[in-house]
Amino acid sequence: MKRLVGFCLSCLFVALLLARCVHTSRVPTPSPSPSPVRVAAITPATIRETAPATQPQASATAAASPTPTRIPGQRPLVALDPGHGGEDLGARHFNRAGEMDLHESTITLQLALRIGAKLQALGYRVFYTRDGDYDPNLYERDVTGDGEIDLRDVVQTRTDLINESGADILLSVHLNAWECDDEELWRATGGTETYYCPDRPFGDRNLRLATLVHQNVLAALRSVGHEPSDRGVLIDHAPAYPGDPGHHLMILGPKDEIIVRPSNMPGVLSEPIFITCDAEAYLIVREDAQEALAQAYVDAIVQYFKEYPPQ
Ligand SMILES: [Zn+2]
Repeated sequence: MKRLVGFCLSCLFVALLLARCVHTSRVPTPSPSPSPVRVAAITPATIRETAPATQPQASATAAASPTPTRIPGQRPLVALDPGHGGEDLGARHFNRAGEMDLHESTITLQLALRIGAKLQALGYRVFYTRDGDYDPNLYERDVTGDGEIDLRDVVQTRTDLINESGADILLSVHLNAWECDDEELWRATGGTETYYCPDRPFGDRNLRLATLVHQNVLAALRSVGHEPSDRGVLIDHAPAYPGDPGHHLMILGPKDEIIVRPSNMPGVLSEPIFITCDAEAYLIVREDAQEALAQAYVDAIVQYFKEYPPQ
C-alpha cells in the first residue's frame, strides 16, 4: 500500500505549502488534578523573562545553547511541544457539509496540558514550547538566519527553547492527516505513528522512548473502545516522494542543511491519530480519550526514566 504522508509532518519542511488562516478562538484549558508536589511549569515566557540574554540569535552559525547544569536530586524535566498554534492550525477535520469542525493545534495543546499536569502531580518538572494558542516564535525572528521568516523559524524556535530549558527529554505531539480523491477512504483511514531519530548519539534512547510511547498510546486507544491501526514506530527520516532524499524532522534530527541547531536530548514525535479520520477525530475530542492518552504518555515517560535515570 502506498505510504501515507500526513500533511502534519510535511508541513514541518514545506512551510510555503501550508494553507494558513486566522484562528482567534481560545483553547479550553483542562483542570489539572490535585498535585501533592507542586512544581511551577516553565514556559517560553518564563525563559524570556528570566534569561533574555540567552535568547537564540538570528544566525545560522550560532552555537547551540549550553545545557543548564542539573542540580543534584532534581526531578526530570520534560519538554512538551504541542504542534502548531496561533495562525497555524495544523491539520483539520471537515464535516460532511465541508465545514472545518476540528483542528490540530487545539487538540495538541489540550493533550500537552493534560500530560504536563499529570507529570507535575508526580513531581516532574515540565517545560512547554507553548502553553496557549500562539506561535512560539513570538517575535517573528529569523532564527535560522536564512533571510526568511517561515515555519522553519517556528520549529527552530521550539528546539532552541527546549535546549535552553535543559529538558531531559522532549515529546512533540501532533495529529496526522491524509486525504485523497476517495473521500470515503480517507475518512476511514486512521492509525498511530511514533517517530524517532536513530542518527543521534542518543539514538537508542530515542528508540526506547518511542517504543514506550507507541505501546502505551495504542493501549490507551483500545481502552476507550477504539481499535487503532498500528502504523509503527518509524524513523523520522523519510522521503516524501520517489527520488526525494528525505529529511529528518527538525525537532528530532541532527544538524544538517535544514536543522541549524538540533535538539540536545532524546525525544519523540507522536501522531496518536489521524484527524482526517472521522472516527478518530470524534474520539480525540472526548474527555475519556484525552485522559487515557495523557496518562499513556506519562506512563511511557515514567518507565523511560526508570530505565534511564537523569544524570
Ligand atoms: Zn502537526
